[in-house]
Amino acid sequence: MNPLRTLILAAAGNDAVRRVVATAPVSRDVVRRFVAGETTADAIDAAGGLIGDGLRVTLDHLGEDTTDRATAERTVRAYLELLDQLHDVGLAADAEVSVKLSAVGLGLGGTLALDNASRVCAAAEQAGTTVTLDMEDHTTTDATLRVLAELRRHWPSVGAVLQAYLRRTLDDVRELADTRVRLCKGAYAEPPSVAYVDPHEVDLNYVRCANVLLAGSGYPMFATHDPRLVEIVSERARWYGRSVEDFEFQMLYGVRTGEQRHLAAEGHVVRVYVPFGGQWYGYLMRRLAERPANVAFFLRSLVSRS
Ligand SMILES: Cc1cc2nc3c(=O)[nH]c(=O)nc-3n(C[C@H](O)[C@H](O)[C@H](O)COP(=O)(O)OP(=O)(O)OC[C@H]3O[C@@H](n4cnc5c(N)ncnc54)[C@H](O)[C@@H]3O)c2cc1C
Repeated sequence: MNPLRTLILAAAGNDAVRRVVATAPVSRDVVRRFVAGETTADAIDAAGGLIGDGLRVTLDHLGEDTTDRATAERTVRAYLELLDQLHDVGLAADAEVSVKLSAVGLGLGGTLALDNASRVCAAAEQAGTTVTLDMEDHTTTDATLRVLAELRRHWPSVGAVLQAYLRRTLDDVRELADTRVRLCKGAYAEPPSVAYVDPHEVDLNYVRCANVLLAGSGYPMFATHDPRLVEIVSERARWYGRSVEDFEFQMLYGVRTGEQRHLAAEGHVVRVYVPFGGQWYGYLMRRLAERPANVAFFLRSLVSRS
């Protein structure tokens, strides 16, 4: 992994850094680039705009590593309200939701995360859409896949996320290739014992996994902004005889927005991951870590304000 990326992700866990970044007025400006807003109304507005432009969306209520049941409950309620409104304004067919199990109680033990995620899945079904379970750091992979398997007994369309940087992922991809799977590179700081460190190795594993997904009978969702991977996936999809409706590209809100529209105009299904809510810290730090230019943008704003 890029040393700057490792450094930023390590600094992100430091309380002093968290206090500075979370309270600096300039953070708001940077956050605005990557986050649709704080409220459900903001999320619906952003979703409406993107869908109007021919894109689809997956909405994420920001928050992770919840340490108490009340916060987990508030997160669930935020999803239930969001799904209700998506249905009411007629956007549910083009909008699904992404859920982090750690936000709905994975760290609190027992069946809380499964029970809470089940409530979100039931509400999504009621609204006419579905859920994808985001994948977090490698210590949660097994637990997340166990909850996924339980959820799929009732809601087979629930999406999995697999991260190409993990050494185990090719096996997981083979296991899940006949289902709905989002493939991404992976956004957390992981040790070399479990993850590829060299970005080229990650890309090679992404392509290996993409081939297995495209050869399977499931619905692959390729979450990447990497132009080379987008090109390779498009070519491999044609080779496997997949029509443009049989897989999709996914990108993040505020990242390569021109390319999102360009791919959609070419006929591809493009889904934008739209985060909203007040708990943006962890999400922002992962976005800064992905691209040094984002850190420079952040620091420039900091200096120009001070
Ligand atoms: C829809 C979606 C869902 C995701 N879900 C998860 C998940 O559940 N779990 C998880 O671990 N990770 C998730 N990720 C993040 C993912 O793992 C990567 O960290 C992230 O997408 C960057 O990797 P990349 O494939 O875009 O390639 P990179 O090699 O990182 O980037 C390729 C190019 O894309 C552009 N780019 C990438 N990131 C940024 C950025 N932050 N700001 C500006 N430009 C950028 C740059 O031009 C860069 O050169 C998700 C990503 C997407 C798009």
